Amino acid sequence: MYMVYMSDEEILSASLETNFWTWSAQGKVNPIPVKRADGVYFWDVHGKRYLDFNSMVMCVNIGHGNQRVIEAIANQARELAFAGPGMATRPRAVLGKLLREIVPEGLTHFLYTLGGADANENAIKLARAFTGRSKILTRYRSYHGATHGALALTGDPRRVAWEPYVMPGVVHFLDPYRYRSTFHLNRPEVSEEQFSQDYLNHLEEIIQYEGPHTIAAVLLETVTGTNGVIIPPKGYLEGVRAICDRYGILLICDEVMSGFGRTGRWFAVDHWGVKPDLMTMAKGLTSGYAPLGAVAMRQEIYEFFMDREYVGGLTFNGHPISLAAAAAVIEVMKDEHIVEHAAEMGVVMKEMLEELVERHPSVGEVRSIGLFGVIELVKDRKTREPMAPFNGFSAEMNALRKYILEQGVFLYTHWHTILLLPPLIITPEQLREGFEVIDRALEITD
Ligand code: PLP
Repeated sequence: MYMVYMSDEEILSASLETNFWTWSAQGKVNPIPVKRADGVYFWDVHGKRYLDFNSMVMCVNIGHGNQRVIEAIANQARELAFAGPGMATRPRAVLGKLLREIVPEGLTHFLYTLGGADANENAIKLARAFTGRSKILTRYRSYHGATHGALALTGDPRRVAWEPYVMPGVVHFLDPYRYRSTFHLNRPEVSEEQFSQDYLNHLEEIIQYEGPHTIAAVLLETVTGTNGVIIPPKGYLEGVRAICDRYGILLICDEVMSGFGRTGRWFAVDHWGVKPDLMTMAKGLTSGYAPLGAVAMRQEIYEFFMDREYVGGLTFNGHPISLAAAAAVIEVMKDEHIVEHAAEMGVVMKEMLEELVERHPSVGEVRSIGLFGVIELVKDRKTREPMAPFNGFSAEMNALRKYILEQGVFLYTHWHTILLLPPLIITPEQLREGFEVIDRALEITD
């Protein structure tokens, strides 16, 4: 128990007075005074229940309050709460073994970080040193984190406020975003293969312009996440891999959001059989039970750094309690077949999404892969004018979000989209519970 007693109201106001993140999480809106959580639900201090359709910022894939993970954390804290980086510990050994079994073939070694941004920072640091080149190519609609380097990698408007200060050397290219493709506006006849090829040609052009020998890596979200669940079309990822191979450029896949079962496979790259040189992960790695990220890398990259005297790390990289939490999460996911369940629930969610297209004129398009879904809202289906600007809010989107929250469903709306990322343990009935609220809410935007 805490030594300092605070009432629920005092906790909320003290949190607002002293804490940057309480405000900044969703802009200046009243934060939910959240108190406890269990499974796919959480409760606020007034006893109101929310269905968590966001997995608490895409982290809590296995659901809240998993007893096996909680026990693993408690046991590790009792046995050895902390050991510095570079020490051989039991959770480090166990997690490495478990990760090797699930990551794409060829990724053999892991560098543990504090989270996703830190993983991306490390990935580009490794890529630059390994190749001896400096530039990194990333995509306009990506989000890669909020630290200095990760913000520079980010292409979406969250970068804009910091634009004058971000790290140089990052060049952005276009995502293969069919619904809003600049190359294919009003050209529905273009095949998926041709569409992919046009975007690969665009990437190739940028590489030629920048000079292939200056580019260390192409870093991309395998499935673009917060900016609209943009799923690679046929041949696209394979094509990016081939281009990278041609010029000795490393391919880094950011699976911070798409990893750990979210798409119905362990990692999104598994859908296309593409093998990245480096892969970053966080969020689902511990299912939010402790802070942790990781960079998975090829043997050759690992060996390159082992020949050097100093690689460097942060004090809390690979904290034993976080490593123990991650190991327990992976074991739970394997024993309870959570990835397979996510794939099955993904089929159910897709059907529910498609029903919304039938029923609501303000739904322009729905996209999903596993339990990673988006509803794209438009003012007019013909012109595809978005319900809110890309980098802004609208009265309609605000009213929609407010209604959904009042009805006890927690999700993120992002510019003109509704993101759907429920915990992977969700049942069809619970999915239906959330979709009924969304269905009613869409009457606001129709
Ligand atoms: N990469 C992606 C794709 C993300 O969605 C996020 C966070 O939302 C990050 C990186 C940054 O991760 P973190 O917030 O753990 O630093």
